Amino acid sequence: MPAVLSEIDPAALPMATATGSSPSIVAVSTAAIQANTSRMREVCAAPVMAVVKAGGFGLGAVRAARAALAGGATELGVATCAEGIELRRAGIDAPILAWMLHDDAPVRAAVAAGVRLSPTSVPQLGRIVAAAGALGVAAEVEIEVETGMNRSGTPRADWARLFEAAATASASGLLQVVGVWTHLSGTSPAQFTAPLAHLDDAVALAGAAGLRVRRHAAASLPAAVDPRTHLDLVRLGASLFGVEPTPERPLGLAPVARWQTRVSQTRDVCAGESVGYGQTTITSATRLALIPVGYADGISRRSSGGGRAMTVTVGGRRCPLIGAVSMDQSVVDVGDAPVTAGDRVILLGDPARGEPSLAEWSSAVGTIPQEVLTAIGPRVARVVGA
Ligand SMILES: *Cc1c(COP(=O)(O)O)cnc(C)c1O
Repeated sequence: MPAVLSEIDPAALPMATATGSSPSIVAVSTAAIQANTSRMREVCAAPVMAVVKAGGFGLGAVRAARAALAGGATELGVATCAEGIELRRAGIDAPILAWMLHDDAPVRAAVAAGVRLSPTSVPQLGRIVAAAGALGVAAEVEIEVETGMNRSGTPRADWARLFEAAATASASGLLQVVGVWTHLSGTSPAQFTAPLAHLDDAVALAGAAGLRVRRHAAASLPAAVDPRTHLDLVRLGASLFGVEPTPERPLGLAPVARWQTRVSQTRDVCAGESVGYGQTTITSATRLALIPVGYADGISRRSSGGGRAMTVTVGGRRCPLIGAVSMDQSVVDVGDAPVTAGDRVILLGDPARGEPSLAEWSSAVGTIPQEVLTAIGPRVARVVGA
């Protein structure tokens, strides 16, 4: 079995599938997700929760979850209740934490499915306990606390009330409080010191209320750069999908996705022709190759034009996008290469094979690799490549 993406032969894959309505496909290497999980298990001295939110970073939540569990993850994390329920329905029985609650979240269905939730207010806790009561089960929760990110954690002023309410519900048998956790917004060890101290304060306060809990804080970047953040669990997403937390000190993570299509037509143009909407780009005498993917499929409009156009692999050579990217199609300047309709185009793949990398895309369009992956549109079928 191929261990990593670089061992999947692009020629062995179809260019499109009946399940996707785009004439392009993303091949996902589940073996690479598994290998990245094992690698991060070596890096971190703590159990790994594999974060497979947003449909497994756009590559398929269930297959990503199974691959990460095979690589040594012991738990799964998702954003929404529905994402957690989807994993359960697929037959996955590992612990699942869903940390995003909103007013009409399907709390009862999540509790019924055994998905652990993260209340950050007394009313949210109340809804979870009510669902547990109606179902006649004990709901599991892990309470998120605010320690500096100012996103979703329970504000410090509310900690005591929430812990007291949780302790009362625990005593009634309707709740099991498994953990107290936070999310780190910093990027360097100096920025983790204060949040970790705040988390300790929260755990001490929970203890005073009679709750015995585990603690966790780190996502991929903190886990990679500061062992103090490992605590009882690390919650890893991006690194399992091949995103290096610190590219200047790579951990040897493997790329997990190859996005490919075919040239749909070519044309030779004279010097002085314009390409695409807005007539922003004027060509020299060259050959243009049309590819059937556009910004609706995740090729950002910021990736073409000017002097810093993103390049893609056409017939084995790197060639720049030219002209404004359209919704459904883009144009590549292939120069004097003997490119013809039907030639293979690799939009994203393995930099070790000279293919465009997530890091290249993200720097070309001014974002982070995770956004590039999750921006690949719904028309594009994701298939398991290995
Ligand atoms: C997304 C997320 C993670 C994983 O973060 P990565 O940087 O992708 O590893 C962990 N915890 C929470 C709460 C998250 O939202």
